[in-house]
Amino acid sequence: EPSPNNMEAFWMPFTANRQFKSKPRLFVSAENMHYTTIEGRKVLDATAGLWCCNAGHGRKKITEAVSKQIANLDYAPAFQMGHPAAFQLASRLAAMMPGDLDHVFFTNSGSESVDTALKMAIAYHRAKGQGTRQRLIGRERGYHGVGFGGISVGGIVSNRKVFGSLLNGVDHLPHTFNLKEQAFSRGQPAWGAHLADELERIVTLHDASNIAAVIVEPVAGSTGVLLPPQGYLQKLRQICDKHGILLIFDEVITGFGRLGKSFATEYFGVQPDIVTSAKGLTSGTIPMGCVWVRKGIYDAFMDSAAENMIELFHGYTYSAHPVACAAALATLDIYKDEDLFNRANELAPYWEEALHGLKGTKNVIDLRNLGMIGAIELEPIPGKPTARAFDAFLKCYEKGLLIRTTGDIIALSPPLIAEKSHIDQIFDILSGVLKTLD
Ligand code: PMP
Repeated sequence: EPSPNNMEAFWMPFTANRQFKSKPRLFVSAENMHYTTIEGRKVLDATAGLWCCNAGHGRKKITEAVSKQIANLDYAPAFQMGHPAAFQLASRLAAMMPGDLDHVFFTNSGSESVDTALKMAIAYHRAKGQGTRQRLIGRERGYHGVGFGGISVGGIVSNRKVFGSLLNGVDHLPHTFNLKEQAFSRGQPAWGAHLADELERIVTLHDASNIAAVIVEPVAGSTGVLLPPQGYLQKLRQICDKHGILLIFDEVITGFGRLGKSFATEYFGVQPDIVTSAKGLTSGTIPMGCVWVRKGIYDAFMDSAAENMIELFHGYTYSAHPVACAAALATLDIYKDEDLFNRANELAPYWEEALHGLKGTKNVIDLRNLGMIGAIELEPIPGKPTARAFDAFLKCYEKGLLIRTTGDIIALSPPLIAEKSHIDQIFDILSGVLKTLD
């Protein structure tokens, strides 16, 4: 029987600070903005789980939809057949996505969405008779999950170096963040749009006829909330257009209202060719992701009747799982009925003020925000990277607040149902805790 003393023998959480040490941190239930720990303590969720529970926790509408779906149709193969909820969900998702990206492919996670998108991009060029455009371009400090595709285009060297060369032919754009230039800026920084020009250099080096796609997170989340400079994403779009390169937005974090719009695509007014998502799609309840593309790309990849179709199979046993579809449909209902994306938009200025209220606090070297995302960058302890932020995490947890740390950066992304009083509480606890750090 697992007990708090032997749990590590059975299962380990996956963070760098994975050991529970003497005190396992276990959640046993969750409702609205709070988790409840095994000791019965309430913990305010300032991270929407892992950037996913946008509709808050314990939503009855989702629970009911899921149990009804399991009882009616527990599984259906998405292999030459389907079920009504998959079509309903795909049509609603297509209607939400700007532009002509009206074909949806279902996955089970962000990592699978990314790998699917990369494969779609390469297959599209091949089917179009555009030679072998196989090179992919990611960005330093980009995070695109942990599949082989995602770690190849991802910009976290430590995540990929032990696995060798990975995908053939990947380049990385420089990341756009410069703490000195951007410190304490609010919203999109004015500095750095010129870094998109690096794409031209890579195109010259490898020739556009070899390059399939560029993938970026509109806002890089997991590596510390790095905001795109004004005009940067627009410039990437222009350069991709000039050279026939597909632009992929990884919206696993930014999708479903996090920036106060349905998608970052809409927020920044830039239309990518492919969009990936997961997390907020089911508000974190049942694992599910999806990829949006326009018909031409979808057909090249999936439709064996399409011209020049390359023989390939791609799909997951659990693609369009009925239970996940039911969870997603109920989640979309909640977003709509409660107008949660607009709510996030309206709450964002309050969030920004509260976050920047920490300016001048000991060890805080930057504060940045966009929509309902915030970051607090701490001065690292020399020789002990991550230690200060992890200390903040532990102390916040003791005081009833869940935060997420990445390096020495605290990343915040509360559920979009947050009230102003929750925001006050988040920053009250944080400001108290930050003052106590070494
Ligand atoms: N892309 C982005 C932008 C992400 O933030 C994440 C997860 N944090 C992923 C992909 C991977 O998603 P998953 O963990 O569901 O595989």
